[in-house]
Amino acid sequence: MEDGGGAPTPMMAQYIEIKAANPDCLLFYRMGDFYELFFDDAAVAAKALGIALTRRGKHQGADIPMAGVPVVSADDYLAKLIALGHRVAVCEQVEDPAEARKRGGKSVVRRDVVRLVTPGTITEEALLEPGRPNHLMALARVGGAGTASFALAYADLSTGAFFVQDSAPERLLADIRAVEPAEIVVADTLFHDEAMRPLFAGLGRLARPEPAALFDSATAEARLCRFYEVSTLAGFGAFGRAELAAAAGLLAYLTRTQFAARPALARPARVEAGGAMLIDPATRASLELTRSVAGRREGSLLGAIDRSVTGPGSRLLAARLARPLTDPRAIGLRQDSVGFLVGDPGLCRSLRALLKGLPDAERSLSRLALGRGGPRDLSAVGSFLGRAREAAAVLGEAAPPAELGAAVAAMRALPEALEAELATMLADNPPLLKRDGGFVAPGAIAALDEARGLRDESRRVIAGLQGAYAEETGVRSLKIKHNNVLGYFIEVGEAQAGALMGTEEAKRRFFHRQTMANCMRFSTDELAGLEGRIAEAAGEALRLELAAFDRLAAAVVAAQEPIRAAAEAAAVIDVSAALADLALAEDWTRPDVDDGLAFRIVAGRHPVVEAALKAGAQASFVANDCDLSPPTRGAKAGAIWLVTGPNMGGKSTFLRQNAIIAVLAQAGAFVPAAEARIGVVDRLFSRVGASDDLAEGRSTFMVEMVETAAILNQAGPRSLVILDEIGRGTSTYDGLSIAFASVEHLHEVNRCRALFATHFHEMTALSARLSRLSNATMRVKEWEGDVVFLHEVRAGTADRSYGIQVAKLAGLPARVVERARHVLRELERAGEGSRRTAFIDDLPLFSAAAVRQETAAAKAPTAPPPALEALKALDPDQMSPRDALEALYRLKGLL
Ligand code: ADP
Repeated sequence: MEDGGGAPTPMMAQYIEIKAANPDCLLFYRMGDFYELFFDDAAVAAKALGIALTRRGKHQGADIPMAGVPVVSADDYLAKLIALGHRVAVCEQVEDPAEARKRGGKSVVRRDVVRLVTPGTITEEALLEPGRPNHLMALARVGGAGTASFALAYADLSTGAFFVQDSAPERLLADIRAVEPAEIVVADTLFHDEAMRPLFAGLGRLARPEPAALFDSATAEARLCRFYEVSTLAGFGAFGRAELAAAAGLLAYLTRTQFAARPALARPARVEAGGAMLIDPATRASLELTRSVAGRREGSLLGAIDRSVTGPGSRLLAARLARPLTDPRAIGLRQDSVGFLVGDPGLCRSLRALLKGLPDAERSLSRLALGRGGPRDLSAVGSFLGRAREAAAVLGEAAPPAELGAAVAAMRALPEALEAELATMLADNPPLLKRDGGFVAPGAIAALDEARGLRDESRRVIAGLQGAYAEETGVRSLKIKHNNVLGYFIEVGEAQAGALMGTEEAKRRFFHRQTMANCMRFSTDELAGLEGRIAEAAGEALRLELAAFDRLAAAVVAAQEPIRAAAEAAAVIDVSAALADLALAEDWTRPDVDDGLAFRIVAGRHPVVEAALKAGAQASFVANDCDLSPPTRGAKAGAIWLVTGPNMGGKSTFLRQNAIIAVLAQAGAFVPAAEARIGVVDRLFSRVGASDDLAEGRSTFMVEMVETAAILNQAGPRSLVILDEIGRGTSTYDGLSIAFASVEHLHEVNRCRALFATHFHEMTALSARLSRLSNATMRVKEWEGDVVFLHEVRAGTADRSYGIQVAKLAGLPARVVERARHVLRELERAGEGSRRTAFIDDLPLFSAAAVRQETAAAKAPTAPPPALEALKALDPDQMSPRDALEALYRLKGLL
């Protein structure tokens, strides 16, 4: 690429052309053992990966920036770049360099992009999390405004799972979030549609526009037929036009990114929209079902309860939690599986032992289908087949209920011949790459054994030659060595070289090859001949091994349907056994789920808080009852509990635990309670804790109101609603009024089952007017002016808010606590309204004299302490109790 400033070198010209065709990707340009990046790509990659930015040649008179990553460790670098939101085009040499040389002159090796690596299309083990699916999603809309219908298609390229689901404008975000896709593709026309702006703004970098033609619904069916090599989709189920458009759009995008490779995708399965509990994104986030608020798996419900022993099991459990069912019969089938294994702990244990370490056959299968698999993928499939057969035998003997019975049947349908062939053909612990061979077992192929024998025999002969030549020449330090440039050669020290070239005869026998700093290298005809034989035999051996690899990989791909079905079956068994193990260890029970409106939990617990308390060896978790069932027989609406109690009393925990119990029950799991009876919840709403959305320029209060509005507008009689501290982000009276009106609305209009936590004690009076509303409170004990939280829910109302006691527990300075007690007493005496304001105006600033004395004693500078300044700036009349508590924390921080 040395270029004085005129035309680019042929290689640079090639690079520029390929880069121009992939403008939105970082281009990994293959040069020998490296992928090189040039120009801006180099700068971006060097910064993102922390690798050196160098230069290579000139282009138009300026240095060309360059950065490179070794091919062998490219996966790690790819993972980093993908995680940072980049897309990478991988450009390989697509011909033998010898071919290019034959063309002569300035010909460069032909190169082409063979694959685009994007967040939704990765398949490499190193780039994937075992317990998380990696979904690529396509979103399609057909029809104009008003009559438009939406659909989602999503596929996990790493496992071949493929789903379509219809959606609707108001549900779109919830449906997308339920899947947690890694990448979403949409038609550019839809992406830039003004009406869709809020959705795509919310999804941020996740969504990307692609040519609208990919999503053309008129040709969608034909394109799907072509992909699956069928003449009609009739056998796949009935799909709507939007669903077809989304599915075809997804396939088209896959073709664009995978080029020649044909992914092993299952036939698209239709997900029934009505079959799942609707959980809006805010609720999903605040309940931390599969991710904590910090975005991690640890600390989430999934993190706390996942005892599955395989990656696919983990993925299935996550999918079940993300999408609880609404059909009591379907829920019952899953519960039967868990219950069956709870009833047979020995069987449960042996299944778990059998499944532990079971290879992720779906991911290996997908890599093999894409031509990215290696010998270890073959042996993973082989050992999967063997272990699955064992598991089926163990479980099948125990006469399991329907769902597990179907799993056994799927595993029994695995091709035994393939299992046997893989077992005999593959060596133990095969290498990662097929490139160098060495993965076919000895004895598997006679011709291969022969070629290997020849190769090894020649090597042995060469090893024998070393002794013979040493004797012949009298050079005892003579060695036969091998390198990639010379092949086999004889090496002697400089001083001994005379013995090999001193006489004519010696010269004829040992011909000189290379002179090094302090040694010389020779060869002989004999050695060269042996080397030729080794190369030939090794070449033959490798050819045979690669042919065997292709044959085995094709056999695996041909059996993809039974293998995928068995892999799914193994995941079902794993999840059932994991939930049974959890139920046995943590004393969970089978909930009664039916079509009624009951919600009765006896001694319920919060699994994540309980686990945290246990881990910290702190006080044990206090179980609590909850009953939101219709209070009178035949009533068509559930009850509402108004929960009061001091901060830190356990209100949020109680609220969340009941929502979580509903999710677990409908996911088909057992629940952390002594007893539970739940009428199917069709929508779950929760507004718990502050979820700041400041990035979007909305205040906490605004977010809270938007979410509350969504709940009041949408909750129906089958919904379960959890509302925590509505109205605390504004002035006391505004907040109280909003909370008051919201409860009335829930009771009279939504008529849903609800838990409503509040610090406004005034609201408890509502229970006298609203027949299905009852008051509950968190018990506390007062002891010598301090407060002790019992975390116990009982009927009734809290008599006080204990804010000052909580503040004291938080470590507020004794002086502030004392002063606050005093102010509170005075405020209570002053009563409501203008007298109170007047009182605050008149209240002498507290212990100003004492503070002065202290500062003098500490010989501090004369400026007033910042805490005092901040205290002066507070306006207690405009503060809710929580604001006051936060202010106290701030004050403490200033001390
Ligand atoms: P609130 O919402 O009333 O401010 P939280 O629900 O946040 O209170 O609970 C505060 C803390 O009390 C929790 O972090 C937990 O450690 C503890 N806690 C809550 N509920 C229980 C319980 N039922 N048993 C034991 N500890 C609990």
